[in-house]
Amino acid sequence: MPFCAHKCHYCDFYSIVDRQDRQDAFVDRLRRELGALAPAAGPLDTIFVGGGTPTLLRPYLWQRLLETLAQRFNLAPIFSGTGEFTIEANPETVTPELMDTLAAGGVNRVSIGAQSYDARHLKTLERWHDPANVARAVELARAAGIARQSVDLIFAIPGQSLHEWSRDLRTALALGTEHISCYALTYEPGTAMTARMARGEFAPADHDHEADLYEHTVAALRDAGLERYEVSNFARPDAACAHNLAYWRQHDWLAAGPSASGHLSGHRWKNVPRLDEYLAGDDAGFAPIVEHEPPNAERNLAEWIMTGVRLAEGLDESTLIERAGVVERGAPERLASQIAEHRESGWIQPERLALTDAGFLFADRVAADLMGCLRP
Ligand code: SF4
Repeated sequence: MPFCAHKCHYCDFYSIVDRQDRQDAFVDRLRRELGALAPAAGPLDTIFVGGGTPTLLRPYLWQRLLETLAQRFNLAPIFSGTGEFTIEANPETVTPELMDTLAAGGVNRVSIGAQSYDARHLKTLERWHDPANVARAVELARAAGIARQSVDLIFAIPGQSLHEWSRDLRTALALGTEHISCYALTYEPGTAMTARMARGEFAPADHDHEADLYEHTVAALRDAGLERYEVSNFARPDAACAHNLAYWRQHDWLAAGPSASGHLSGHRWKNVPRLDEYLAGDDAGFAPIVEHEPPNAERNLAEWIMTGVRLAEGLDESTLIERAGVVERGAPERLASQIAEHRESGWIQPERLALTDAGFLFADRVAADLMGCLRP
């Protein structure tokens, strides 16, 4: 969903500022794309609509889109309650009418972008919403019967103290949602945030402070009954995001909309990012593709390592070693010795190939080390 009310300074997702003049054309095009993709799909276990700001789309357009999904796809898992249908929501744009429309179309989970409750930090991020509207959005979703909610927060914002972050966490926990995501602020190339940092407008949080904030996050959420199941994601038992788990476990998924990327039987592809080109290109309904990577044993395994290491469940060690042997003859031996080394330093658990609490602080390093073993 490519539309946003404005561009937040830290964001490197594809989005354009919405003037409401292209929503109709976009939805028509998306419906054609969904129609083209439908024959490739079995019953849908999960749907995730992200963006952009999906809740900016007007309710009558949502209704059209939801009708297309119901007509073209088998949504039995979702309507029977075993499946998951998530919409990302901006607190400012949640209305009773929209929530009722979404709930009637099968949406059973909303992920609400709170980011911070502190007006000063929201300003640093150039995030425009009234923090009070987060609770209102959760209530409206509940009132419409959307039973599952998640809240997104950002930490390590320049100038943010441990005390302020702890207050954000407590405020989010008071909402009683089953899921909270906490992302460390990153400075992506080409974003306004990165340019402001380069101009010296602020200094990024230093590494030790960021680690303190993260460790506090894990402890505070654990105390409240939300366990970390991925580096940045915390949930009550059985409330992990099934859709994101499918990404991280390298299952198959289809992609629709500008800049969306899909994964099917080892193939990866990405739709054209620009809305104009997405609207103009129509190959029997399919969107123009800008990147396609055919199956490749080494790349597929490296992707599994990269996402699997970040999960609390970790990776199946014997499957990893076996797949590494297909990539390169010496890889299993190198992997076994690298895993043993990280076990010794206390970053990988003794019994399973999964990070320890200490290891989670070095997840990217562990993943890079394991990926490095795939080559001589
Ligand atoms: S609302 Fe989300 S997608 Fe849109 S600019 Fe802000 S962070 Fe990016």
